[in-house]
Amino acid sequence: MYECPNCGSNLKFDIPSQLLKCDYCQTTQDPYDITKAQDAEENDVFDVTVFTCPQCGGEIMSTDTSVAEFCSFCGASTILQSRVSRQLRPAHIIPFRQTKDACKKAFIARMKRSPFTPDELKDEKHIDSFRGIYMPYWSYDISQKGPVLLKGEKSYRKGDYNYTDHYDLSGQIDAEYNNLSYDASSSFDDDISARIAPFDVRDKKEFTPSFLSGFYADTADVDSEIYKNDAIEIANSTSYDNIRRVKAFSDVHLTGGRNSFSMTTAFHTFCEPPRRVMYPVWFMSYRKNGRVAYATVNGQTGKVAADLPIDLKKYVAGSAVLAVPIFLLLNLFFTILPKTVLGFSGFLAMATLFIYLTEMSKIYHRDRRTCDRGYLYRQSLADESKKQRKKPDSSVPLKDLISFCSSDRNYRLGGALSSLAAAAVAAAVWLLNPVSDLWYYAAAIFSFGGILFTVMEIIRKYNVLATRRLPQFDRTGGDDRA
Ligand SMILES: [Zn+2]
Ligand SMILES: [Zn+2]
Repeated sequence: MYECPNCGSNLKFDIPSQLLKCDYCQTTQDPYDITKAQDAEENDVFDVTVFTCPQCGGEIMSTDTSVAEFCSFCGASTILQSRVSRQLRPAHIIPFRQTKDACKKAFIARMKRSPFTPDELKDEKHIDSFRGIYMPYWSYDISQKGPVLLKGEKSYRKGDYNYTDHYDLSGQIDAEYNNLSYDASSSFDDDISARIAPFDVRDKKEFTPSFLSGFYADTADVDSEIYKNDAIEIANSTSYDNIRRVKAFSDVHLTGGRNSFSMTTAFHTFCEPPRRVMYPVWFMSYRKNGRVAYATVNGQTGKVAADLPIDLKKYVAGSAVLAVPIFLLLNLFFTILPKTVLGFSGFLAMATLFIYLTEMSKIYHRDRRTCDRGYLYRQSLADESKKQRKKPDSSVPLKDLISFCSSDRNYRLGGALSSLAAAAVAAAVWLLNPVSDLWYYAAAIFSFGGILFTVMEIIRKYNVLATRRLPQFDRTGGDDRA
């Protein structure tokens, strides 16, 4: 903790003034002027208290020593175990700009757009559990400078002949890509960091530990090598696209391949050693039925990204209220033939089946975190196999899928059967084409029943998708321990 020079109580970073401020006597101090004894040394480390959740193993740190009473990662209300540790100093930090009140307001406004949000989530006391956490990122600076020589060709037709002209396009490249940043914490899902991006790096400040006072920070545990190639690829393809946009080149087909390796050579792409940076995020978790949902607000811009589950009861009530007038309207203006109704139900059955399976595929990727590079990296360390450097694969091996679906109640595919049955019955009656209309009505009723069941399952799966598996961290072998 940082002591107030006037009264000795705790100084905390105050967002509106961007200064350290004493809760007690309102004295303010510039964050750079105040240092703890150990901060004063020219050091690349600083002291923190690391809080560990006894339930999930998730860790956050703080410069304060006061007790932390809940875990932001798994949502457990429990006293976190604390220990003193040293952390490597980040190069830069973007201090919080959005106050907690502003963050709560932004979140409430976001919830208003989702009318079926469960009431527990709207609870004032729960919303107050937003916690300011600095998330660690790796920041890359890339430069491309020097002479460039690209091969190109232009084909055209004159009379009976096809001509191809070959070009050597030469010029100078002078490009800089600064502050390309990537989530450096394996506990912070890549999909969340993508949704609250971007951060405006013009606001960044040189790091000093007192910025953290009154806030928490997540530990960086993902190796910087993981994202280096991504950053280089972005620089290469952006430069390539810019060259394509040069008017004189526009109808010339560049023949040198677009692959990153050849471009890195052609453009003299150079990546500086990455820097550690910290970006501000308001973070809240909501735990239900053994799963957890996260609400995050960008602490600089106020952009909200929230997992918002749907309250099934509210949804059914809302849909019923809507269905009645629609039914009456349809009845007033159209005479609907039984065959049309049946055809429509068959179509709906296929549509719901499709939506259901799409959701299941998303759940598969999300819960296995197949696209979360940081997480995969930690997993690969745990496996002691090679570090994960390849792009994640989006295809799903069937065997994997079957074992996944049978592993948990939330992953079962039962909801697909009702739609399939509905579609099959509708198709059978349609093909048999019975004389009596009663067959059509009976089949349509059966079919709509099946569809209704699938729709309920779609909402249940939606809630699975709007929540996450409870995290389980394995923090051994972290590379951020100084
Ligand atoms: Zn004071
Ligand atoms: Zn936890």
